[in-house]
Amino acid sequence: MAPYQLSVQDALEHFTTRIEGLSQEEVMHRQSKYGMNELPEKQKIPEWKKFLLQFHNPLIYVLLASSVLTALLQDWLDTWIILGVVVINAIVGYAQEGRAEKALDAIKKMVKYETTVVRGGLVLQVDSKELVPGDIVLIKAGQRATADIRLIETHSLKMEEAILTGESVPVEKHIHPIEGEHLPAEQKNMIFSGTYATYGRGKGVVVATGQNTQLGKISGLLTDIARNSTPLIQKMDDFSRKLSFAILGVSVLFGLITWYLHHSDIQEILVNTIGIIVAAIPEGLPAIITITLALGVQNMAQNRAIVRKLPAVETLGSVTDICSDKTGTLTKNEMTVMELISPDANLTFTGSGYEVTGKVSGNLNNETIQRSIRIFNLCNDAQVYLSSDESKLSGDPTELALKIMAIKSGHSDENVQRLAVIPFDSAHKYMAILIKEQDSNLILVKGAPEKILDRCSLTSQDKKALTEKFNQKAAQGYRIIASAWKSVGSTVETLNDNDIHELHFAGFACIIDPPRPEAADAIARCHEAGIIVKMITGDHIETAGAVAQKLGIKNPENKVDGNYLESLPDEQWPQVALSCNVFARTTPHHKLKLVNALQAQNRIVAMTGDGVNDAPALKKANIGVAMGIKGTQVTKDVSDIVLTDDNFATIAHAVRLGRGIFDNIRKAIIFILPTNAAEALSILAALLAGGTLPITAPQILWINMVTTVTLALALAFEPTADNVMKRPPRNPSKPILDSYLAWRILFVGTVLSVIVFALFNYALSTYQSIELARTIAVNALVAGEVFYLLNCKHIRHNVFDKSFFNNVHIFRAIGTLVILQLAFTYLPFFQGIFKTVPLAIYHFGLALLGGVLLFFTVELEKFVMIKVLRLG
Ligand code: ATP
Repeated sequence: MAPYQLSVQDALEHFTTRIEGLSQEEVMHRQSKYGMNELPEKQKIPEWKKFLLQFHNPLIYVLLASSVLTALLQDWLDTWIILGVVVINAIVGYAQEGRAEKALDAIKKMVKYETTVVRGGLVLQVDSKELVPGDIVLIKAGQRATADIRLIETHSLKMEEAILTGESVPVEKHIHPIEGEHLPAEQKNMIFSGTYATYGRGKGVVVATGQNTQLGKISGLLTDIARNSTPLIQKMDDFSRKLSFAILGVSVLFGLITWYLHHSDIQEILVNTIGIIVAAIPEGLPAIITITLALGVQNMAQNRAIVRKLPAVETLGSVTDICSDKTGTLTKNEMTVMELISPDANLTFTGSGYEVTGKVSGNLNNETIQRSIRIFNLCNDAQVYLSSDESKLSGDPTELALKIMAIKSGHSDENVQRLAVIPFDSAHKYMAILIKEQDSNLILVKGAPEKILDRCSLTSQDKKALTEKFNQKAAQGYRIIASAWKSVGSTVETLNDNDIHELHFAGFACIIDPPRPEAADAIARCHEAGIIVKMITGDHIETAGAVAQKLGIKNPENKVDGNYLESLPDEQWPQVALSCNVFARTTPHHKLKLVNALQAQNRIVAMTGDGVNDAPALKKANIGVAMGIKGTQVTKDVSDIVLTDDNFATIAHAVRLGRGIFDNIRKAIIFILPTNAAEALSILAALLAGGTLPITAPQILWINMVTTVTLALALAFEPTADNVMKRPPRNPSKPILDSYLAWRILFVGTVLSVIVFALFNYALSTYQSIELARTIAVNALVAGEVFYLLNCKHIRHNVFDKSFFNNVHIFRAIGTLVILQLAFTYLPFFQGIFKTVPLAIYHFGLALLGGVLLFFTVELEKFVMIKVLRLG
């Protein structure tokens, strides 16, 4: 029989398990029998194919075509050199991509899937991989099922099963056996791996793991979550394609022009045209961009922000609004009850955090106060085990604070029978339980004060007085939770929302949750970076306003709450979304509307979330940020970034790093392209003048190869500049190379080609040796690149600041390059291939001088264009 056809007892027996769970030995035994709870890895691209894919690039096609041409011309040396460079480039690209892939894989693995299990009578969190059939697991709203499970206990459990059934409306689950044959969609006493709980909680026995689950059977159809491409990479691919055509077009055109002007022979023209093609192609650029992104993402993970979707790195630099939760993200989430207020008495508490040593003062014997404490103690799922060596705390921080308050007031754990529960949910903002008492049953409720007061039978005068009291406390920044109760008949054994009315008010607790000290600082940095920080909280409007003020959020007095938002006509949303920065008593639905409204105003929105219902807003936001600690699995699954420390400051830091990565990519581009431009321009100039090529095609390939793997790669390690958070967000619709950067590429390309061309001609006329003149020209070009690399440390600012020496990779790269150039110039092996000759120190001096000249020219250009003409 299938598990859904069995009764709860039979299901337990069938899987030889019991309510206290399996023992550790049984788990080990079953793991060796059934294997781990894993789906087979997605079929990976075989390594040989990955290597071959390196050649699948229009730039490389052009180079390969050139090698075919040189082969036809029987210019074997050039053919072998071009092919050699293409292969070396593929090897470097393959190795770097492998490194990037490994880094990204490691990051993906940082988001762990854990499951709550009962084993040997203890409730444990285990890696989902370790689940075995027969394990007893617990699931609650926001968690994803990680195996197929026959339910044995449910409390209003609803599951979203779209991944299996395509149906996005959550399905209510139960524990009763179902007769007959049914598809998974109808097996309402089962939950399936990959589906998630949207409401309530449940307990069940694992009936299938890994590939035997329903998900395992269809896993081939599932799409991968993280893509290894970004809009920028796609744009660069597109750019490569266009560039290849442009290079081909220009080279052929110049071939024709030189033929027309100088009537040289076809073979020579072809060799020269190939020279231009080879010179102009930035073959190393795609690999450099990939590695820069991967290194950046790795760095972000070390800084507690795990990027789950690579395009987020680019979007981070464009974020204009960060909408952040309050509790736990902007505040510490270390709650302490400071006061308990009932209509006719109050208590104050001392002590901080979850210490139980604080003192209580006030009228502890007051009846309503006692009742209120009891409600907070029982209508509570937090657990506190006190012992002399080590106390253990688990549960929601608000509930822990209330438990600790009860302990301070002398209440201990009471053994009451809970008949039913309405779990806390940020949509209805209360929790209720039904418990068995001697003569009658009792409903105990705690929740947001105004929601509780609405459900109490109070005179309007009493209600007004209580509202004033808690508003006053909320305005001081306290988080307020109210308690209420009602007696029902002893036969009542179920509980739903309709029962929560005509309650008796008991009291409210005032809780402090101190702001995170680093949050105010991070908010100030965001403001400097042109980013608006908005606080979106489920808390009371006055509490939210007071905390926003403490944190330095802009215009904290301009605040709205959920009630106001409910009555707000759609057309007014964008205006309110833009002008208000404090949104209180919001529901997850408001978050979604806020994202939509801001995006309608062309804002780029980062939105944080933790609850299951936050998923749609996170998905819609340009950057969905999930909380690694208190966030539900569902929010993590849809998010772009997961914060491992739930801290607002980490988001601000991620924005900073994201901007830095983008800068580094831009730096790599504006470093690599002018070199190609300079090489191509010096050849064009030589051809037009009807003279000899200052640098041959093989020499150009040498330069491109050695400078890319040394110098350009070093830029990927460039630390984020201090000023990145002083600029406004980047407009995402602006091209990566704006007109100023395009100018810079042309300018540097021209200056460098003039220097190289001039040195070449000087050497040629002085020494009458083409080989010597070319060796000097190559070394001058390389020296120019070394100095230009230093210019590239800051794109728009001069480089004379303390960050000049902050990237050791640059200096290591220069050292390596010097060795390579010495080998190129002096080793007979290279002399044979590249037709180089030994240089005197004076010649190196000339090359260096050329580099220094370029360096100061570029710094002068920055000064004139940016500081004087203000054009950049
Ligand atoms: P955030 O700022 O991250 O949105 P929040 O904790 O302020 O989080 P909610 O969790 O939606 O927002 O809580 C809203 C209100 O519900 C709180 O102000 C409090 O009055 C009440 N509340 C919070 N937690 C509980 C709970 N466990 N049981 C009952 N009421 C709660």
